[in-house]
Amino acid sequence: MAKWQQRRSFWTWGYESDEPSAAQRKAAAKVIGERTGLNLEPPPIPDLNQIDVRNARLKVPAKLADWVSTDPVERLLHTYGGHPLELQRALRGQFDNPPDAVAHPRTDDELEATLAFADQHGHVVIPYGGATSVVWGVSVPAGDRAAITVDMDHFHKVLEIDEVSRAARIQAGVLGPDLEDALRPHGLTLRHFPQSFPWSTVGGWIATRSGGHYATNHTHIDDFVESTRMLTPQGWWESRRLPGSGAGPSPDRLVLGSEGTLGIITESWLRLQARPTFRATAGVVFADWATGGDAVRQIVQAKLWPANLRLLDAVEAQASAGLDGLKALLIIGFESASGPQNEQIRQAVAIARSAGGVIEDDQIVCDDGSGKATGRSGAVGAWRDAFIGVNAGVSSGLGLLADTFETAITWDAWPEFDARVRESVGKVLLEVLGPHTRLSCRFTHVYPDGPAPYYSFSGPVRPGAEDEHWQIIKDAAMEAVVSAGGTVTHHHAVGRMHRPGWKQQRPELFEQALRAVKRTIDPNGILNPGVLFDPD
Ligand SMILES: Cc1cc2nc3c(=O)[nH]c(=O)nc-3n(C[C@H](O)[C@H](O)[C@H](O)COP(=O)(O)OP(=O)(O)OC[C@H]3O[C@@H](n4cnc5c(N)ncnc54)[C@H](O)[C@@H]3O)c2cc1C
Repeated sequence: MAKWQQRRSFWTWGYESDEPSAAQRKAAAKVIGERTGLNLEPPPIPDLNQIDVRNARLKVPAKLADWVSTDPVERLLHTYGGHPLELQRALRGQFDNPPDAVAHPRTDDELEATLAFADQHGHVVIPYGGATSVVWGVSVPAGDRAAITVDMDHFHKVLEIDEVSRAARIQAGVLGPDLEDALRPHGLTLRHFPQSFPWSTVGGWIATRSGGHYATNHTHIDDFVESTRMLTPQGWWESRRLPGSGAGPSPDRLVLGSEGTLGIITESWLRLQARPTFRATAGVVFADWATGGDAVRQIVQAKLWPANLRLLDAVEAQASAGLDGLKALLIIGFESASGPQNEQIRQAVAIARSAGGVIEDDQIVCDDGSGKATGRSGAVGAWRDAFIGVNAGVSSGLGLLADTFETAITWDAWPEFDARVRESVGKVLLEVLGPHTRLSCRFTHVYPDGPAPYYSFSGPVRPGAEDEHWQIIKDAAMEAVVSAGGTVTHHHAVGRMHRPGWKQQRPELFEQALRAVKRTIDPNGILNPGVLFDPD
């Protein structure tokens, strides 16, 4: 069954088929219990049919009734995105602010009619892709206005493939695996793999400027966008398909990162490439994080453009790749459809070694172009499995507060930036969650002028204190990152969560200009109010 036909889990990432079993949750409870000294039991999973749902604050007109519904379970299923606090609320059966209706338009006409109805009545509209937003991008804003969540699941087709230019016209609701299934027979691929790839959509990627698995070069979805098509309350916004253009400010640039505040993206032409068959992988061990960072800078500045260049600090290297808890691990990966990557990996490894990295020659894995998987054993393979197998549901509701924050910073400010962030956030973690906390970091993406560090934290939390404690930690992290010169987000987007940090880092005039654009396109302010900036 195609992914878009599968029912999403309401309490964990992914589909119902991804939900951890009772035995897996019990095993996680044991591990967390050993770490925290608590006797833990996984909480029961609520029955959505038994939950009292607030009455819908709107009436669906008969002409929309084929695709817009106020069914209580539908509304519960569309209440939350993928942030851990949201998943925990869902697991507690707490659905205080569900959307009032959920639309599943199947055609442009149905989408137009939905938006026109909402605009006429001043109802809030929340564009909804895979709901993997970790920044509260699909949640209903507080207030009296009724909200309609517009689920783009029926926009699930790849409409055209241009094999000559290597591009495809893709509908916004296409999920990652369905997209790759459609491209595979043509020998083509988008090769944009955010960690949420199995559950997130093309429209969501464009709306949030997602970051894929490429650690260098084509890091964001931006790099693949040829053109976009978006419905706004004032009509269609459609850009011309071009390989490049210097004609003034780009209309696509306003769509990218608009996070559902300017319109509903319905399709996009995206650049494709041949599927890689040659790969080369190496895991280089460093005595410490700082030396590893130096090696990464030298490799990326040599412009070798590895597909993977992930540096894990000692905590992450131990947890996800089985190292000793003292050393850092640098995972280097090259891939190509056209030729062996032996020389590229040899050069990158040579740089890493001269910076202090250690790897035996026989640990460098180069394949023969047959397309067979490589680098799936040892520390690199262990890291890959942990990355792909990530699922919050296993530990949700077990008294552990865990989250991540990610940023980017120029090399001149690194590693002082890292020291400052770790000191500020580490201090707050200790105060709020106590001594059994973890704070770790890896580079997800790297640029010639700076890394994109991705921090993870976790620690035991008193039941009922999750939201309050999370906010204290998040405020400290946001303040540390932005005041030290970084960005409030490198790829997780702004949503409702990162508004204060983004406000601090952007020019005031830019905000005014953006608000003016929104007033022109969405004069009644119906589209995702509260995302990016406070509503007017
Ligand atoms: C486990 C996990 C791992 C993640 N890893 C990554 C990662 O590696 N890289 C990364 O960049 N992000 C990551 N994320 C965050 C998230 O997956 C991305 O932001 C993703 O792009 C969201 O896509 P979606 O289809 O789920 O969008 P949704 O969550 O449904 O929506 C996200 C935002 O986009 C808007 N939107 C969605 N569809 C449309 C549309 N058609 N038109 C207009 N606006 C729309 C929504 O209103 C909302 O503001 C991760 C999230 C999780 C839970």
